[in-house]
Amino acid sequence: MGLLSRILPKTIPTRTLRDYMMYSAAAMARRHARPIVSGFPVGLAAIVVDARSRQRYFVSYNVESRSKSGAPDSVHAEEGLVARLRKEEIKGVEYEEKIWRILVLGGLKGQAPVVIPPCGNCRDVLLSHAVRDAEVFVLNESGKGIWFPLTAFLPDVYDKEALVASLKPRDPVLQMYTLVRRLIEGKKKEAPFDPFSKGPRATVMLDEDGAVIGASTIGDAAFHFTESGEVAGGMKDAFRHRKVRFVMFSHNLQVDGPVYPSGRELQKMYQLSQFSDGGLTIISASPNGKLWFAQIDKLLPYAFGPKELGIDVRDYL
Ligand SMILES: [Zn+2]
Repeated sequence: MGLLSRILPKTIPTRTLRDYMMYSAAAMARRHARPIVSGFPVGLAAIVVDARSRQRYFVSYNVESRSKSGAPDSVHAEEGLVARLRKEEIKGVEYEEKIWRILVLGGLKGQAPVVIPPCGNCRDVLLSHAVRDAEVFVLNESGKGIWFPLTAFLPDVYDKEALVASLKPRDPVLQMYTLVRRLIEGKKKEAPFDPFSKGPRATVMLDEDGAVIGASTIGDAAFHFTESGEVAGGMKDAFRHRKVRFVMFSHNLQVDGPVYPSGRELQKMYQLSQFSDGGLTIISASPNGKLWFAQIDKLLPYAFGPKELGIDVRDYL
């Protein structure tokens, strides 16, 4: 490897021949991207494995669309990748190809590619179709390329537990709990169509002045699903308050431990934390009055928000 590291280009953060090949393949794929709205082409290279441990290399890239009204949408490179994974049947048993290694390159159009982490939503997309020891190529703090476990992109990190019953009557967390449960019980009014989730979910936010904003999950028949945390985190009200410090979400699932927000919800919450100019605590609340606490940065490591893209959020307030 010593010789190879001397031969491989120093300008890109790969140190092995395989990584260099993946980097080059992702950079080539990125040229085919069609980010017709954002101008942010993304390309990726992945190694997938089948039931016989055979490896296949894949590339993928992002494609964007806009509606007649101009509203944009995006199919991320990772979503394009999972749509191409194959299945096979061996002696009556069905096996699926799964993702083992993935390297993603982004950056503005016309500029050199940069290694980027998957967004919150794509973390769920990848985890749903990856082997247990799958890894993602990321840059560490000194800019060196390292392979990082995919599971660590959405870690189990709730660090504090509390009971609603132990809270004082005026505790804002108790007020949040009361509201989030009311939203769930009165769900029919809040979310008129939600047939695909496993029961109702709701999210509330609390700012420093005690204002509470709430939202429920909603779906449509095309299986486009918008989670409560995503709706709440995208609300203009939340951004305007600028002092959102707590987000609590709840559900009616009969599970013992905490339920984690989806990657897509966390992506919106991470963005909200940048608008709010400070730390944001996410609270998972069970129907039987148990609470779990975690900081957004812990829940979504290696995240990117507007700041990382050089966007000043104050321009939008
Ligand atoms: Zn994504």
